[in-house]
Amino acid sequence: MTKKELIFLGPPACGKGTQTNKLAEYLHFPHVDTGSLLRAEIKGETEAGKEAKGYIDKGQLVPVELVSRIIKNRLSQDDCKNGYILDGYPRSVEQAEELEKMNAEIDNGGDTKFIAVYFDIDTSILVERIVNRRSCPVCGEIYNLEFKPPKVAEHCDKDGAELTQRKDDTREVAQSRFDTYNKETAPLVEYYTKKGVLKSIDANGTIDEVWERLLEVIK
Ligand code: AMP
Repeated sequence: MTKKELIFLGPPACGKGTQTNKLAEYLHFPHVDTGSLLRAEIKGETEAGKEAKGYIDKGQLVPVELVSRIIKNRLSQDDCKNGYILDGYPRSVEQAEELEKMNAEIDNGGDTKFIAVYFDIDTSILVERIVNRRSCPVCGEIYNLEFKPPKVAEHCDKDGAELTQRKDDTREVAQSRFDTYNKETAPLVEYYTKKGVLKSIDANGTIDEVWERLLEVIK
């Protein structure tokens, strides 16, 4: 069986998290989301979490060694052997090269298909999206107070938990996250285009519209 390695690129709040949560359920693949893994390390007050916190609070990338170690551990686990959805990694050319090394070691010559999906979106709406974003601390479901509000105010539709707002979802930190994205992550679009593995989708529109476009490109 061909293993499917799916990675996702796009600016902060482009809808990757919402779509990749859905896709993980649909394909029965693990959803490996570096931002959530790092936030779990912070919550658990681990050494990695303590190191990462300062960078996250400023909207900068955490050091490549730290994030790559966490990702390699996760991708080596048994539930990733048929495929995985990687959301938020790689975020720089250096990380993309790390991922290639990791995959070569983990896959060990097995049959794999690698696809990088790029969410192409009008960025002018994204800061508003970020400040209105809330998420469920239990299941990870993402809401937006304006575009996708929960049925009961401030509570998750799936499990009733009280929704939380990410500490870095403020206007100031958002601006710095966009700057980091433009400088470090945007060059990956060209990087994967040159390798012939990039699939670009129009990420403007409703969740259902983007979902249909996503299904077309990951076949
Ligand atoms: P996200 O949840 O994907 O928006 O990520 C939140 C924050 O976690 C980012 O602003 C970075 O500080 C950090 N982070 C997430 N993924 C990475 C990564 N691949 N490399 C470095 N830092 C990351």
